[in-house]
Amino acid sequence: MLVSTLTFVAPTNAIRYVGAWPVFIDAERNYWQMDVQEVVDFLTQQCDWCNGELRNTSTKRRVRAILPVHILGHPVDIDPLLELAQRYDLVVIEDATEGLGAKYKGRMVGNFGDVSCLSFNGNKLITTGGGGMILTNNEAWARRAKYLTTQAKDDPVEFIHRGIGYITRSTL
Ligand SMILES: *Cc1c(COP(=O)(O)O)cnc(C)c1O
Repeated sequence: MLVSTLTFVAPTNAIRYVGAWPVFIDAERNYWQMDVQEVVDFLTQQCDWCNGELRNTSTKRRVRAILPVHILGHPVDIDPLLELAQRYDLVVIEDATEGLGAKYKGRMVGNFGDVSCLSFNGNKLITTGGGGMILTNNEAWARRAKYLTTQAKDDPVEFIHRGIGYITRSTL
């Protein structure tokens, strides 16, 4: 999963939580966001298509997603990343945690990824003390996120858990 070098550790932890590995993409000089040219270089020079799957040439790992992080309140140049994601069949996971209220071409950040996240931790622009929000237009993913963030409870009465959930608050 491609992720910004210049970020808080949380998105990189999230990559490891799901068993994936980060590929760090450096920041551009002007706004310190994920450098689109670095992404292009990685995808074109360090990856190969193999049986319809994009693979990192040196690690042989599958390349599945781009995780741009809008840091310090400034948006990532996301349009070219969305185009690349479409061309290379990658999911875009947008970390809009530090970009709440920032706009890219007139639209609030958090609107661009297949899934995006916000944080309401104590040190963020808007806080509820802790917690955050997952944004997606994908109904199945929304249901899955709700399930995992409410202790993966399969049965409201008998406390049956078939998955490993998390302790967070969730409203859908
Ligand atoms: C704070 C932050 C997070 C994590 O938010 P928590 O709600 O504290 O887990 C993720 N990404 C970035 C860029 C952050 O600054």
